[in-house]
Amino acid sequence: MKILVVEDETKTGDYLRLGLSEAGFVVDLARTGTDGLHLATTEAYDLVVLDVMLPGVDGWRILQAIRKTGHDMPVLFLTARDNVEDRVRGLELGADDYLVKPFAFAELLARVRTLLRRGKPKEQEVLRAADLELDLIRRRVTRAGQRIELTAKEFLLLELLLRRQGEVLPRSLIASQVWDMNFDSDTNVIEVAVRRLRAKVDDPFGTKLIRTVRGMGYVIDVSDAGNAGGATA
Ligand code: CA
Repeated sequence: MKILVVEDETKTGDYLRLGLSEAGFVVDLARTGTDGLHLATTEAYDLVVLDVMLPGVDGWRILQAIRKTGHDMPVLFLTARDNVEDRVRGLELGADDYLVKPFAFAELLARVRTLLRRGKPKEQEVLRAADLELDLIRRRVTRAGQRIELTAKEFLLLELLLRRQGEVLPRSLIASQVWDMNFDSDTNVIEVAVRRLRAKVDDPFGTKLIRTVRGMGYVIDVSDAGNAGGATA
């Protein structure tokens, strides 16, 4: 777990870096807003502890920049005053929590741990399209409640189609993702595999889920299969 601390006060910065390192985190410390902005938008962190009052580029600008680049890592901001406007502003700009200085390190650590737990989305366990279900944990596929036996490659192929539901997947992409083959490889392998997969997953059922898009590739698109709803992936 990697944490970025942006703090211009030498003592507080050192103290946070030491404490968080001792708690088992990898810590980068930025002592200026400019460094903080740079690191926050170019490196990958699991969480950012962000002082708001920084000379030059302040914490708000860093926070905005983080959210603008689409990063959703939790941000805990530090404010010097117990000021309602600051808190509201921080939360509106996309921060997840805040602490008012001075704070006890134990409290900061507790908040950090809570945010990291909350920020970790649970890996999806079951992929679905209409009445088709692929259970990633139990490695099981069912359709309309009926168990379907797939080979390892068929399972991977179906998993890929379900994960990227609604997207037409070119044969080259399927080749690289499922067979670890490059673009020029024999695409016949894919056609055969798709045919076998269809024979198990689609042929016995009324609604066909796997579509061929001529010249482009394959897609599972429930909205096109004439089924209302159920397209949760
Ligand atoms: Ca400061």
